[in-house]
Amino acid sequence: MGKVLEGKIRAFFEKLDSLLEGYFQAHKAYICCRAGCSSCCEKGDYPVSELELKYLMQGFIELDSEKKLIVQKNIKTMQRGEACPFLIENLCSVYDYRPIICRVHGLAYICGNDTVKLPYCANEGKNYSSVYKDREVFINPVKDNLDTPSLLKNFDYGEIRNLYDWLKP
Ligand code: SF4
Ligand code: SF4
Repeated sequence: MGKVLEGKIRAFFEKLDSLLEGYFQAHKAYICCRAGCSSCCEKGDYPVSELELKYLMQGFIELDSEKKLIVQKNIKTMQRGEACPFLIENLCSVYDYRPIICRVHGLAYICGNDTVKLPYCANEGKNYSSVYKDREVFINPVKDNLDTPSLLKNFDYGEIRNLYDWLKP
């Protein structure tokens, strides 16, 4: 990835993170995300655009050799819909380079077709579980559409595929 593009994405993520921080803060009464709580990285599809994948792999390049080996081993044994190979000891090894889906996950927001997207851990007694019942959420969700195509609309972001399909074509 070229330095100019990398800089643009870094600046975009800095802006996005500060926007998301405000949303997480506004919903803090319903949120229990913390370092080490990683069940959202242990099961899922992790849809990622081509652009984000390049940035993610930049994060991989910057890992020390021991972590690189762990991730490579994880990719070899990776199963569709199961743990993300970048997860090491319940922590994201490429945290600063993680894609949009990982940054917005945890929030309840309104997506394109006016439906509310909730983190699945609402069903596990975690985020929003106190205000979620019978497929209804009893608070105002974030009004921005935080889906990847919507947030990346000013970038030529390429195709979106699940992480498994990028890493094990
Ligand atoms: S989204 Fe849910 S599973 Fe993921 S860190 Fe937050 S509380 Fe934990
Ligand atoms: S990239 Fe990091 S935050 Fe995203 S699913 Fe993988 S381990 Fe979790």
